Amino acid sequence: MAIPYIHANTYLEYLLKERSQEELGEAMRPKPEVDAAPRIPRDHRISQKMVEKRWSLFTDVPQAREQLLDPVTEAGMEAYQRNIENFIGTVKVPVGIAGPLRVNGLFAQGDYYVPLATTEAALVASYNRGAQMITRAGGCTTLVLSEAVMRAPGFAFDNLQDAGAFVAWVVPQLESFKAEAAKTTRHGELIDMQVTVEGNHVYLRFDFHTGDAAGQNMVTIATQAICDYILANSPVKPKYFFLEANMSGDKKASAQSFLSVRGKKVTAEVTMPKALVKGLLHTTPERMVDYWRMSAMGGVLSGTIGVQGHYANGLAALYIACGQDAACVSESAVGVTRFELTEGSDLYACVTLPNLIVGTVGGGTGLPSQKACLDLLGLAGSDNSRAFAEVATGVTLAGELSIIGALCAGHFARAHQQLARG
Ligand code: NAP
Repeated sequence: MAIPYIHANTYLEYLLKERSQEELGEAMRPKPEVDAAPRIPRDHRISQKMVEKRWSLFTDVPQAREQLLDPVTEAGMEAYQRNIENFIGTVKVPVGIAGPLRVNGLFAQGDYYVPLATTEAALVASYNRGAQMITRAGGCTTLVLSEAVMRAPGFAFDNLQDAGAFVAWVVPQLESFKAEAAKTTRHGELIDMQVTVEGNHVYLRFDFHTGDAAGQNMVTIATQAICDYILANSPVKPKYFFLEANMSGDKKASAQSFLSVRGKKVTAEVTMPKALVKGLLHTTPERMVDYWRMSAMGGVLSGTIGVQGHYANGLAALYIACGQDAACVSESAVGVTRFELTEGSDLYACVTLPNLIVGTVGGGTGLPSQKACLDLLGLAGSDNSRAFAEVATGVTLAGELSIIGALCAGHFARAHQQLARG
């Protein structure tokens, strides 16, 4: 996290241009709480009364209230009861539609119109183009390869002897842990356990199937029940423990999740005839493979986890539209893109994403506009999460094809100039 001398020096000059070092120090000094702005009125239930109380903090910006607490939001605010605290309204994010995206998957079958919520110009246009290319090439083949969602509690002991004795007791308990987890959920299932010993610390990683839910709440509640069982029954008591000790990969890209699975691991491929590449992307398969090779090396040289162009663009827009946990883009948007030339000089393109945290029930998927977006895909509710994961993977493939096509054809800056700046 070092800052190069030249940056540090320029920044210091900027800071000290208008304020002295003493004034900067004073600005950063902790201030007594008596000076604090009023607390936000708190009540976990959403009610008109509480919403009004919160807005009384902002009487000087009536236009903000008009935007955030519009009549439709106000009339339907109870729908958000289990998804937000300190509710004051909704933010409107524009939704565009990309497609049709033909997916020939184990679970997703057919042509999908994909809702994408974003404020980034050129994004929907780019995914739309990629989706159309894939569809004209006969569609992408997709395959869910494996699935598991993790929680990883940590236990601390006095010494390695105690940690070892704890592990010796824990390892044969998997069936008991499965039974404890099963008491907390109908659709979740503990499928595996991983043990890591580091000195007098023990990390247990519990791997679950979570049905059609993304599953983070499910695995948290089930793991709490397992930990309660451990604390009640283990002959060696830990000095202390934490329900999550940061080994699950929740909300962060990690080498561990990249190398195995977190959520759903999905791969997708398409072969694009050279005439299609030329006609739609105005470039050639050869140039796209040259770009891919150079960009893959660029990823390696800059230390990215995996090698890909911009999975986060499509996934963030899809997650926001469809009520997924948008913060999970941090782990979902890793993977590997590969482009190759076929023997017939067509373009073979594939993507593999090992960490898609997605669900079609639970979380934000039942909220009014988010459920509407899942309805556009025909993927709301039970039995649809694997198909949703395959569509999401097809979306990332579309994005990779389109952005690389734009870079190869020299259209990348022009498209943003036209669409974002008008
Ligand atoms: P959830 O809405 O808490 O749980 C899913 C619910 O749907 C469960 O009650 C489940 O019942 C039920 N369900 C009905 N049909 C189902 C089906 N076919 N498959 C699976 N479940 C079905 O959602 P979640 O996915 O567990 O958690 C996602 C939320 O957790 C997101 O909003 C995310 O932001 C948040 N989150 C939580 C944590 C955390 O540590 N707690 C961390 C990160 C994110 P059963 O349980 O009886 O099966």
